Amino acid sequence: MKKLLIDVDEVICDPGFRTVINMYLHTNYETDDFTQYYIDDVIGDEAKIKDFYDNFYLKYNTFDYATLLPDAYDVLKKLNEKYEIYLYSSVINPFCVEKSGHLYADKYNYLIKELPFLDPFKFIFTSSKNLVKADIQIDDRMENLQGESSLKILFASYHNKEISDETLKAKGIIRAGSSWKNAWKDIEKILLND
Ligand SMILES: [Mg+2]
Repeated sequence: MKKLLIDVDEVICDPGFRTVINMYLHTNYETDDFTQYYIDDVIGDEAKIKDFYDNFYLKYNTFDYATLLPDAYDVLKKLNEKYEIYLYSSVINPFCVEKSGHLYADKYNYLIKELPFLDPFKFIFTSSKNLVKADIQIDDRMENLQGESSLKILFASYHNKEISDETLKAKGIIRAGSSWKNAWKDIEKILLND
């Protein structure tokens, strides 16, 4: 079986972080309102971001507000019959490194509840993503696709729309989806076409 390495945030799920920011700001920001990966700047200046992390953020498990992306469950279930699936994910928020410990438990608990057919012994929690090599790798951030996996797939996301086909081609990366809304259907075509 080929080894398939799949990122979690913005690939398997919307991790709920934006919802907690909306609760803090009393706003209704949606995924495609952003073009940068890190959306923390929307909170405000440095003092306001500090207030968010010190007095609000830790009261919530962001994964209580997480949602699986469209078709993720069904396609993962099919992929699981044909590939050895490893989930890999960073769990450190660079805006509050010292308070990121809870994310390990929150993300793990979310994944085993929502995707019970996957093997939790194959979950890899790391920010050193390029050390992990597989036959196929799926991620929404191009910088995480610099390792030695044989087939690299960029999962369409709000923050990677501007990356040109030429840039991807030069790096040996293919794209799945024109939007996160249809990217899993594209993954299905690419990896389950026989
Ligand atoms: Mg991601």
